[in-house]
Amino acid sequence: MRTTKIDISQTAIQHNLSTVKQLAPNSKVLSMVKANAYGHGITLCLPALLQTDAFGVACMQEAEEVFQALSRLNLQHDIGICLIEGVFSKPEWIQAQEINAMCVIHHQQQLDWALQERFTKQSVWLKVNTGMNRLGFSTDDALPAYQQLSRAGYDVIVSMHFANADQKDHPINQQQITRFNSLLTQIEATTGNFPKVSACNSASIFNFPEMHYDWVRPGIMLYGSSPLINQTSAELNLRAAMKFTAQIFNVYTAKKGDSVGYGSTYQFADDTTIGIVSVGYGDGYPRGINNGFVICKQQSLPIIGRVSMDMLAVDLSNATNIQVNDEVELWGDNLSIDTIAAHANTISYELLCKTSNRPSRFVVKSPLE
Ligand SMILES: *Cc1c(COP(=O)(O)O)cnc(C)c1O
Repeated sequence: MRTTKIDISQTAIQHNLSTVKQLAPNSKVLSMVKANAYGHGITLCLPALLQTDAFGVACMQEAEEVFQALSRLNLQHDIGICLIEGVFSKPEWIQAQEINAMCVIHHQQQLDWALQERFTKQSVWLKVNTGMNRLGFSTDDALPAYQQLSRAGYDVIVSMHFANADQKDHPINQQQITRFNSLLTQIEATTGNFPKVSACNSASIFNFPEMHYDWVRPGIMLYGSSPLINQTSAELNLRAAMKFTAQIFNVYTAKKGDSVGYGSTYQFADDTTIGIVSVGYGDGYPRGINNGFVICKQQSLPIIGRVSMDMLAVDLSNATNIQVNDEVELWGDNLSIDTIAAHANTISYELLCKTSNRPSRFVVKSPLE
């Protein structure tokens, strides 16, 4: 059988959530499980995240999936759901209430729906644009929106999103913080109460502890990849949740002058022993990787030639004792996805989200610490 698989470590996810809680001990946690838990599988990750306060998703279909998973555990009243782009129609606004989901409100129409169909036991997340310039009320429009929602009886969480949180010294960070904090002060001055607030994704949980406020919103760090440009996940006390592996399923010696793969882009300078690995872009391995490598028996094997849909080739000249059926790690504990992402000129988020359905996913249950 072609063995290309993805192991999901619930222990690693649990550990990473506890790292979030150590960093932000006074904040509630909205664990981001959008895009099928960053490609890991919502239902596989959810049992490891039951210490969270709510789950963040991007659309109703994902919200329904989380709601059903929580219902199976009879936890649908204990752990919230937040639709981070809000709803896309009035019927969807009503549907969101039926599954007890909190909604982001980022534009006037969503505000209108919330005021027309009042579900005032529910929290809403009022999104403010402080510099990302994708979604949200301007800092001027946010104050009246806040007042309308709170007068209508909603529990409002005022939220923002950093555009450069991975680079602590980027000047736009301070600009966003200043704009946001001045809005918060204005809300306090006008209403007499400091509002509930959420500002931080993974990178800002590390870089801006003064912005933790009431809710933090970790995503990538739960899955064990580093959210920061210049620090590794190990340095940040994060563990890889996904281990992506395949198998060497053919070994042979190519002759000097031969080439390997589509386009014959890699030519052998000498007779060379090579291995063919059972993974390709059809499994989600990045075709555009440069100077990539895989790990087998603690050895690093360079990828040669183009990555195909179902396989890739590695150079075994400097390796010892590699045989057909040996397992190779594409990323995981021994080879950080952040390293592979750098070689593929992308970020771990994209690689994780693009893992396909073809590799079977398994949950690794290790004893709790
Ligand atoms: C995806 C997302 C997050 C999580 O971001 P990470 O960088 O993965 O931690 C937080 N907040 C919002 C609004 C998001 O869309």
